[in-house]
Amino acid sequence: IWFDFNETLQETVEDLQHTTQKHKLIQNFTPTGRIYSDKDRVSQVITNLITNAIKYSPHTDTIIINTRRENNEVIVCVQDFGIGIPEDKKDRVFEQFYRVSGNKQHTFPGLGLGLYISSEIIKREGGRMWVNSIEGKGSTFCFALPVDDINS
Ligand code: ATP
Ligand code: MG
Repeated sequence: IWFDFNETLQETVEDLQHTTQKHKLIQNFTPTGRIYSDKDRVSQVITNLITNAIKYSPHTDTIIINTRRENNEVIVCVQDFGIGIPEDKKDRVFEQFYRVSGNKQHTFPGLGLGLYISSEIIKREGGRMWVNSIEGKGSTFCFALPVDDINS
């Protein structure tokens, strides 16, 4: 279906802000226009990225959600200042059941499925997903989805 991307993003972020006292979800909006996609699944992807950002940031509180329009795509990035991902593990986090954080002094619950499912959803919707991260400094997970040019 067609839906206003910013509206869906905002709703999802507001819902998630209610689940945490500690973390502050900061949104930087730019008008993105409508996208043709599965609204609930896209919302699930945003939820997965933000819950990861919260979970893997035990000692920092800021999480930034950036949206921008680039050519015919809307790009969403979720940035945290948490534990980060070692350079040699970065490419593997989208694999089914892959987890990096078990061997740290902190243990984080999870199955290693959230990013696998998210990247499959985004691929199916015609987009792509990637990550930039520095171990000990934080991570930025982004995805891009095609935007409709006529209506936006
Ligand atoms: P779940 O299935 O509940 O989502 P999970 O969070 O472990 O479990 P994924 O969301 O797929 O699984 O993430 C895979 C792995 O990537 C995580 O176990 C963690 O090691 C790493 N990871 C994901 N997001 C972040 C992040 N924001 N910061 C640091 N590491 C991350
Ligand atoms: Mg997860």
